[in-house]
Amino acid sequence: MNADLHCHSRASDGLLAADILAERARNRGVELISLTDHDDLSALADMRREAEARGLRFVDGVEISACWRGIGIHVLGLNVDPGDPSLVAGLQAIRDSRAARAVAMGESLARSGIDGALAGALSYAGNPALVSRTHFARFLAERGHARDVRSVFQRFLIEGKPGFVAHQWASLADAVRWVRDSGGQAVVAHPGRYPLSEAALREFLEEFRALGGSGIEVISGAHTPDQHDNFAALAREFGLLGSRGSDFHGPGESRFDLGSLPPLPQGINPVWSAW
Ligand code: AMP
Ligand code: MN
Ligand code: MN
Ligand code: MN
Repeated sequence: MNADLHCHSRASDGLLAADILAERARNRGVELISLTDHDDLSALADMRREAEARGLRFVDGVEISACWRGIGIHVLGLNVDPGDPSLVAGLQAIRDSRAARAVAMGESLARSGIDGALAGALSYAGNPALVSRTHFARFLAERGHARDVRSVFQRFLIEGKPGFVAHQWASLADAVRWVRDSGGQAVVAHPGRYPLSEAALREFLEEFRALGGSGIEVISGAHTPDQHDNFAALAREFGLLGSRGSDFHGPGESRFDLGSLPPLPQGINPVWSAW
């Protein structure tokens, strides 16, 4: 099964609209897809229609910005109900909190001599309520502050660098609860990306599971092959289901295209097996 359960549309920080994304997924052999925009459900109906019209199976998804011990963690909600009131309200609150952070990010960059960043970021945002670091990164790359969008994140927008603003996202407990209460499965997105020691990562997974989290993205576009093995072992150890997601944002910006990652390793129970 070529499942790709993590990608973004223009409703958050992706570059493509739902119809183009679905067409691309079909052309690349994807059989089961989820759209997981950051903190937003607005493109799901379009994406379902476009995917199903092309013979793909589709599940509603979202990538929720959460915090655990002050670290930003992304929780995928897969097979959620986009009409669920507490999920809808929780995501609205996260989106509302982005505006003030974006202003502070613009001010931080201005202190480093880069003017006009907020307006520049907003010009890239399909939805101004969802202005994200990616939109700032596109502006910084366009202005020549980095070679491309990915290399922006070596010098800007990360802890300790210009443009980074610490932010209070949803609690891990709330994020998992919204997903579960809406009938979905909570999955840790790109676990290799967080600044956690081996011990802290285990504590995190323990807590995530105790809160009702059910899976982990073993195969992610953000991971190296070594990390795939490491997270497969952790999925087995913690009894978590495995997921596979490219985290595709757009051509030229993402290392992995839709449906192009290796399959889940043997012995990992896929998160989609119950659907
Ligand atoms: P935000 O939700 O505003 O904090 O923005 C987070 C987004 O920035 C992620 O979803 C990625 O698309 C992008 N991003 C964050 N860190 C990196 C990185 N190191 N390399 C590439 N993209 C990144
Ligand atoms: Mn993103
Ligand atoms: Mn993410
Ligand atoms: Mn993502």
